[in-house]
Amino acid sequence: MELSDGVFLIYGRNHGRYPYANCVLVEKDLLIDGGAEEVWNLRPEIILNSHWHEDHIAMNNVAKHVFSHELDAKAIESYEEFKRRYGLGEKVDLFLSIYPNLGFRKVNATFENGETLFFEGKELEVIHTPGHSAGHCCFLINGEILYLGDIDLQFPWYGCLDSDVEEFLNSIKLLKKISPKIAVPAHGEVVSGEDLEIKLESYENKVLERDRKIRELIALGEDPVGKGVIYRRFPEPKEIYEFFERVMVEKHLEMR
Ligand SMILES: [Zn+2]
Repeated sequence: MELSDGVFLIYGRNHGRYPYANCVLVEKDLLIDGGAEEVWNLRPEIILNSHWHEDHIAMNNVAKHVFSHELDAKAIESYEEFKRRYGLGEKVDLFLSIYPNLGFRKVNATFENGETLFFEGKELEVIHTPGHSAGHCCFLINGEILYLGDIDLQFPWYGCLDSDVEEFLNSIKLLKKISPKIAVPAHGEVVSGEDLEIKLESYENKVLERDRKIRELIALGEDPVGKGVIYRRFPEPKEIYEFFERVMVEKHLEMR
């Protein structure tokens, strides 16, 4: 699907529902994230990773060059660091077994907030949006197409050791100031510029609502985990999602 001249949206399977992710291809050789099976045939020269999670780095090995934010580079390069950030020990392999082409590999260059990458007549502005991961970035292409990565407008997620709720909220606020024509979340359908602000607003409210409920339960002397505050019910394997919920609850409690 062509979003604008030379900029294409590639939906991951089921509109990029996890374990797949949507990607954006700029001309033929620069791809943002690699969670769609089609990438295997596209063989782009360069892949930009919005962050280090498996559904975004899944196809890194097909590209000649991989770029990411410096704070996420180590987890893209090293399985040990990837595993450490999830905090799940060997259980993390459950997430990796479904990606036949995933391999940890060298990040050839890093980018930082505010930097503009020039590629075949297109401009990609890097917007560092930490919270989901430490080095999570969004990209604004030619000032009109905003790739949102995992600020996915659906389910705010901050269950890794390098996640941070306060930073997540600040990143949402930052994105509200941008008025693109089209916004592309890594998961789910594209959103028009007019709808973006209201979707970001309700996304932000989800986080604030969780915060309120967690503090309410703590005040009552209850454990907030397993009460439906974050996951309405835990998907399988339950113990892993319960672990993520506990991490996320702790992240809320770290917030002032
Ligand atoms: Zn992610």
